[in-house]
Amino acid sequence: MSYRVTLIPGDGTGPELVAQARRAIEATGVSIAWEVVEAGADVMDKYGTPLPDSVLESIERTGVALKGPITTPIGTGFRSVNVALRQRLNLYACVRPCKHYPGIRSHYTDVDLVVVRENTEDLYAGVEFDLGSAQAQQIIEMSEGKIAADSAISIKPISETASRRIVEFAFDYAVVNGRRKVTAVTKANIMKFTDGLFFRVAREVAAEYEGRIEYEERLIDNMCMQLVQKPELYDVLVLPNLYGDIVSDLAAGLVGGLGVAPGANIGDRAVVFEAIHGSAPKYKGMNKVNPTALILCGVMLLRHLGESAAAERLEAATAAVIAEGKHVTYDMKPTRDDPTAVGTKEMTDAIIARL
Ligand code: NAD
Repeated sequence: MSYRVTLIPGDGTGPELVAQARRAIEATGVSIAWEVVEAGADVMDKYGTPLPDSVLESIERTGVALKGPITTPIGTGFRSVNVALRQRLNLYACVRPCKHYPGIRSHYTDVDLVVVRENTEDLYAGVEFDLGSAQAQQIIEMSEGKIAADSAISIKPISETASRRIVEFAFDYAVVNGRRKVTAVTKANIMKFTDGLFFRVAREVAAEYEGRIEYEERLIDNMCMQLVQKPELYDVLVLPNLYGDIVSDLAAGLVGGLGVAPGANIGDRAVVFEAIHGSAPKYKGMNKVNPTALILCGVMLLRHLGESAAAERLEAATAAVIAEGKHVTYDMKPTRDDPTAVGTKEMTDAIIARL
C-alpha cells in the first residue's frame, strides 16, 4: 500500500532540505505517493498568492503534509503563509519534541521534552488596536485608569474550549507515546482570569487521567529557570500560544538548536510536519544547511502513518551519523568554518547508508 502525503518544498533553503528528507524517508522502504504542491515567495508571480488553494485542497485530501520553511518577507503586505495554513486548516496543536542526541554540542545531555503549544488564540489571535484608534480609546475608558491614555492594545483571549482541546491533546499524546507526566505552564498568579482558566481546565482534564499520567503546574518564569537548571525533570509541557512559542525555542536551544528540532502542527482533519527553523535564505542553493530537523520531521511523519519500525530505523540512522560526527553539516562541527563539514546532501547520504 502506498500512503498519499502532500509535499510542500517551500522557499529559501526549503526545497533542498525537503528533497533530502524525501530521499531519507523513501530509503526506509515505506511507499509514499507524494502530492507536490507549491507555496511561498517564489510562487507569488505564478499564482498571485503565496498560498494557492491547491495547497489547502491537497492537504485536506491527504490529511498529512511535510512542509519546507517559507519566508515571510517584511513589509510587502503578504501575511505569513505558515500562520495562514495553521488557521485555514485549524491546526490547533503545535508539537515540538526536543530530545538530545549524543554527539550534538550542547550544555545538556539528558533532555527529552515535548512542548505542546496551543496554536489558535491568546495574544496571537490578532485582536489589536493601534494607538489613537477609536477602539483603543474605548477600551482605555473602560479600564478605569488602568491603561495609559497613549496606549496601543493587544487582547489576550483564552477560551475554555481551546484550553480543554489542547490539554486533552497533551494528555492523549502522553498516553500514546508512553510519557509519564504533563506540566501545564502559565502566569496565572497575575492573569487570574485568562491563565487561571487555562489552569482550571487543565486540572479538570488531569483528573480524568489520574493514575495514568502525572500532572503538575508551573509559572512561566519559574519554568524557564527550571528548564535551564534541570530540564531532565520535565516530560510533556502544555502551554498557551505565546508562552509555548517562547518555551519551544528555549527547549530547542537545550538540545542543540534550530538545525535539529522537528515539529508538527496538528488538527482534527490534518497534520503538517515542519522544522522549527525558517528558510535561512542566505544559504539558499548552497547545499550547506543541516537536514536533520526535516529528516526528524520525516520520523514523526512515519510514526503518524503507523510505520513505527521505519521511523525508529530512520531515527537511529540519523542519531548514529550525528554521534559519529564525521558526515555532518557545518553547524554540528566544533567550529563553523571546519573544513571537514559536509553538505546537506552528503549528510543525508550518510544517514541513508546507515539505514
Ligand atoms: P532561520 O531559522 O531561517 O535562520 C536563522 C539562522 O539559523 C540561519 O541564518 C542559520 O544560521 C541558522 N539555521 C536555520 N536553519 C538551519 C539549518 N537547517 N541548518 C543550519 N543552520 C540553520 O530564521 P530567520 O532568519 O529568522 O527567518 C528566515 C525566514 O524564515 C523569515 O522570512 C521567517 O519568517 C521564515 N520562517 C519560516 C518558518 C516556517 O516556515 N515555519 C519558521 C521560522 C521562520
